[in-house]
Amino acid sequence: MKTALVISPHADDAAAFCGATIAKFADDGWHIILVRVTDDRKDSVGLTVEQTIAKNTEELHAAVKILGVSEIVELGFETDMLADVPLGKLRERMVYLFRKFKPYAVFSFDPFGLYENNQDHVRVAQAVDEAYWIACFDKHYPEHFAEGLEPFSVCERWYFARQLSKVTHYEEVAATIERKIDAVCAHREMMKNTINQYQLQVKTWGKQVRWLQQSKDGDMKPLIGLFLQEQAKGLAQEACWDTEVKLAEAFRLERFGGLEELFQMMAEPLNESEPAPVRAELDHPQEEPTNEIEEAHIIPLDIKERIRIMGHHHLCAGAFDELLKMPVFRIGYASLVDHINPNPDLIVETVYGYGQFCYHCVYFSQDEGRCTSGWKNKLAKDYAVLEHLGLKPGSQTRLEDLQKMLAEKVSYQKLEDFCGPGGPGKCEFYALGVCQKSFAALREKYGIESK
Ligand SMILES: [Zn+2]
Repeated sequence: MKTALVISPHADDAAAFCGATIAKFADDGWHIILVRVTDDRKDSVGLTVEQTIAKNTEELHAAVKILGVSEIVELGFETDMLADVPLGKLRERMVYLFRKFKPYAVFSFDPFGLYENNQDHVRVAQAVDEAYWIACFDKHYPEHFAEGLEPFSVCERWYFARQLSKVTHYEEVAATIERKIDAVCAHREMMKNTINQYQLQVKTWGKQVRWLQQSKDGDMKPLIGLFLQEQAKGLAQEACWDTEVKLAEAFRLERFGGLEELFQMMAEPLNESEPAPVRAELDHPQEEPTNEIEEAHIIPLDIKERIRIMGHHHLCAGAFDELLKMPVFRIGYASLVDHINPNPDLIVETVYGYGQFCYHCVYFSQDEGRCTSGWKNKLAKDYAVLEHLGLKPGSQTRLEDLQKMLAEKVSYQKLEDFCGPGGPGKCEFYALGVCQKSFAALREKYGIESK
């Protein structure tokens, strides 16, 4: 069962900003913990502080029941005074909660949200956003470790706001919007206070809205329901959905940032771990439209029949089957790898200077010579490899013949000399071990004794 921590500065924030999504997660079997940061002691009209705390707490319990929240954690800070609480103190509480409850996802106000005039919201957003990475460190708040807690990192951050500066995810919530409305209405005292604020403003304007008074005195659901429905419909429209059947809540959903693509390619499931929930936007990010004209210049039209490679890359040809499948290799050469078909009849043409792979290589640099990593100038290695194989620039060899040649002429020691970490031509891919294995397989295939 996955856990979500919903950090709500005030009792009603969770329901109002992400209530329908929380209800959906709860329905999907998530364990939802709501963290109320303040005591809401001032959020009422005409009640004493004690009455206000009691009423708002009671109504919070009713609201979370509707949403399917399993647990409430009270931090008890004085409401509307978080601006006076040191940010570091608030952050420590968040780090503690992350380490204690180990949530897969955290819901919170976005520290980069727009038009936020509530400092409790601002401070909580800042504390959560910083706690997210500090919780991973092993030297922050050692008193937590003395309690038996460990460094921990949340996987997903679901940020909401009055207005997000950037929406990255729309959650479809038609099935749970009714529960969101009911949960918000359950915070009757806080809603009365919200309506009261509008009434005061409209009064200053010199007017009145009778529906506000009627809602405050009686049933709030028509007013709140209309507002929340329209809001959800507006967001569904932004997502380009059919608003007759779909409604949305919006988030800035953050996971691995700029490393998302890399992790998508390289990550493999952990044995005992539950499968990760699918996040369409992150798992299948919209592919950049390819500029076909530009690509045609880079990918030769005859690449399926013929590849042109420099001297030392002939060694890579011995491990093509494995290398072309490998995530790390694909990161460097993806656009090219997708087009290469390493069949026995593929013609390998030996070129002098830059080969096709160079232009796609992440280490390619015009300024630095041939390569920005390892050794700078690979010409010496190109020459040595070609001489060893008996090939010259302009040679054309079938891939199968080249592979047989490699099996015959390149011993374990020779491959180590050419590509290994000790030699002058160290290769980033050699360290992965696939080349050694592929060459061994080639020797076996052609009945050449290992040497
Ligand atoms: Zn609030």
